[in-house]
Amino acid sequence: MSTAPTSAPAANSTATSVPTKIERQASGMQGTIQSGNGNAKPVNWESEIQLVSSLAKLQELERKIHEIRQFVPAGLLEPIVPISSSNTVSTNNPAAETPAILRNDLEHAAHDRLASLEQFQSLWRSPEMKPVWAHVEARLGEANGQILQPTGMWEKDYDVLLAELTKAEKGKEDERLREEEDAERTKALSSEGEWTAVIERFEQRNVPGVRVMKGQNQTSLAIALSRAGMVFLVAGVRDYNSSAVSGWQVSSRVAPGRSTTKLEQAVLECLNSRPRKWDLAFLLDMIASYADIKQTPCIKCAQLTNNAAQLPTIRRAQSTQPSTDDKSRLFVFDAFHPSCA
Ligand SMILES: [Zn+2]
Repeated sequence: MSTAPTSAPAANSTATSVPTKIERQASGMQGTIQSGNGNAKPVNWESEIQLVSSLAKLQELERKIHEIRQFVPAGLLEPIVPISSSNTVSTNNPAAETPAILRNDLEHAAHDRLASLEQFQSLWRSPEMKPVWAHVEARLGEANGQILQPTGMWEKDYDVLLAELTKAEKGKEDERLREEEDAERTKALSSEGEWTAVIERFEQRNVPGVRVMKGQNQTSLAIALSRAGMVFLVAGVRDYNSSAVSGWQVSSRVAPGRSTTKLEQAVLECLNSRPRKWDLAFLLDMIASYADIKQTPCIKCAQLTNNAAQLPTIRRAQSTQPSTDDKSRLFVFDAFHPSCA
C-alpha cells in the first residue's frame, strides 16, 4: 500500500531527469544546427508522406550508425586481416608485402573511415534533417522523455513504404492530369468555330519565321517555317460517323520532284506522336518550336548536332499549369536529340 506513492514520483523523475540516448543525441545535435542554420522551413506534420520520409531518413541514419560501429577496430584493422589469417587472402584482398605497403593500407583504411564519418555527420546536421530533429525533440518532450517506439525496433522499412506512397501519389497526380485534359478536350470539341479562333490567335502572335496559310475549309491549313525550309499540312481528323473533329494529323508538303528529307521525316514523326492530339493550339505551338531548328541546341547536351550529325528533332512540352484564361495559354517546348531524349 505504501509503495505506490513512493514509486510513482521515482518513476517520473527517472523519466524526466535521465534523457534517453536518442534525446541526448537529438538535442545535442540540435544545438549545433540551430546556431549554424537560421530557421527551418515549416513542415506539415499532418502529411503522411512527410512523416514516412522523415522516418526513412532516421532509419537510414541508424543503419549508418551500425556501419560506423564496425569501424573500430575491424574497419581500421582490415589491412592486417589477410596477414594474420591466410585463408582470407584473395586477389581483391592481398596481404601487404612490405611494412611500407601495410602502413599505406592502414592509412587508407583510416582515411576512408574518417571520410564516411564526416559524411554521416553532415547528413545528421543537414538542413533537411533539422525539422525532423526538432519534431523528434518536441514529441519526446510531450511524451515526458518516454521512448516513442516502445519496442526500440524499427517495425517497418520506411524507405519501402515511402516508395509505395510516392508511387501512389504520382498515380493520383496522373489521374488528376488526365481528368483535367478530358475536361479541356470536351470543352474544345464542343465550342463552335473554336478552330478558326485558335488559328487567328496564333496568327496574331506573329511568331518569327512562321507563316500560317488557311486551307479550303476551317479544318485544314498549312504552316510554313521559312528559316527551317519546311512546310507542314495540318488537317482535322473526323471520327467515323461523326462530324466533330477529334484530332489533327500533320503531313509535310514538299516541292514537286523532291522527296521528304530525313530531317523533315524526323520532325514529322515527333509531331504525329505528340500528346493532346485534339489540341490545335498545342500543335501550332509545337510546329512553331521548329522554326529555328537549325539554331536551337539540345537542352540535354547543349550541342546543335550530335555524333550522328542529327539536329535536335525531338520536342517535349514543358509542363504548364492551365491558366485561368485558356485562350492565352502558350506551350513551351524543349529540344532534344533523339539520342538525348
Ligand atoms: Zn543532345
